[in-house]
Amino acid sequence: MTANPTRVLVLNSGSSSVKYQLLDMADGARLAAGLVERIGEETSRLVHSPLATGGGKREQEAPIADHEAALQAVAAELAADGLGLDSPELAAIGHRVVHGGQKFTAPTVITDEVLAEIERLVPVAPLHNPANITGIRTAQALRPDLPQVAVFDTAFHTTMPESAARYAIDTATADAHMIRRYGFHGTSHAYVSRETAKLLGKDPSEVNVIVLHLGNGASASAVERGRCVDTSMGLTPLEGLVMGTRSGDLDPAVLLHLSRNAGMSTDEIDALLNKKSGLIGLCGDNDMREIRRRIDEGDARAQLAFDIYVHRLKKYIGAYYAVLGTVDAVAFTAGVGENAAPVREAAVAGLEALGLAVDAGLNAVRSGEPRLISPESARVAVAVVPTDEELEIATQTYDLVSA
Ligand code: AMP
Repeated sequence: MTANPTRVLVLNSGSSSVKYQLLDMADGARLAAGLVERIGEETSRLVHSPLATGGGKREQEAPIADHEAALQAVAAELAADGLGLDSPELAAIGHRVVHGGQKFTAPTVITDEVLAEIERLVPVAPLHNPANITGIRTAQALRPDLPQVAVFDTAFHTTMPESAARYAIDTATADAHMIRRYGFHGTSHAYVSRETAKLLGKDPSEVNVIVLHLGNGASASAVERGRCVDTSMGLTPLEGLVMGTRSGDLDPAVLLHLSRNAGMSTDEIDALLNKKSGLIGLCGDNDMREIRRRIDEGDARAQLAFDIYVHRLKKYIGAYYAVLGTVDAVAFTAGVGENAAPVREAAVAGLEALGLAVDAGLNAVRSGEPRLISPESARVAVAVVPTDEELEIATQTYDLVSA
């Protein structure tokens, strides 16, 4: 055995996909990354980037029957680069687990009891937790001796006060069915709020930050002195902002109306709100690049979808400003937040009275680095802070197993 193994394999197992990265925590280097998609279909695909050797991407398209076969294929790719899962330099495997309920407030070494608890939460995360469990079991079978760590999407939000975490419904019903606001994208909100403090030259405990994670899924959070006090996603990742294919907030009576008057089943309503709503429901596209292109051509539907997206975003900035009282920074992150300057500009437009403004020149700069885009005179910093959920999962995993 190597004295101090420093490598961490990060696994993000979805229902039909596995994303992975191998990092060396001695220096934070990314050694390999890749994705297996369409598991269980005829057209499965594995894309592997051997980052350590600097070689080109390797792709294979061949049926991959299940998660076990997928992980075996990943292990073979890593082994071909001399980074096999049997390496004594591997310290742990860190798993992204979507739902940790109220119990898991921190990364946790996976035991049988922990797995049983993740299983108990399946009713509130029916799409995600079963896939995460499969990923964990498969990885355990490959390396039974290695610590496996669960890093929960919900953990960062467990500091929310009850006033923010509870829905105003009958308490007994809520408790019987685990109905409360859990929030998601927690590793991103944790990472970005910390990096934003760093950008300001402060400790996280000294600043209040509004984090806007705008990817295909999107969520906002209010982070007070390093602790989350509110977030826009709730029982599931459907609540809150307008997303690529999800509606975000709506009157709950819309569901009753669809059921009673449109004759839709629960599965149909589920698909409508999660897959056929948001930007794609409004204008037929969920990619902000395509929406901007259509707006430039004068497309009114694309413009309205953009306006609805930004209106919701602005409401959350205002709401979290009020929740926090004072705000040191608003940080944009994820695919849209990091790349779509028009979204950032429009979300902050007209908020000068709150001390918020964007400098057009700085906002137009394209960069992969954390940066300020507010004018120097602004009371509140507006920042673009690229997220790195894999690095955060690897860091939390390594900190736990090397402690
Ligand atoms: P994520 O879920 O963080 O990977 O974000 C994916 C989304 O980011 C895509 O659906 C796009 O809408 C958006 N996106 C990525 N690159 C750009 C870009 N250059 N300009 C605008 N939006 C972008």
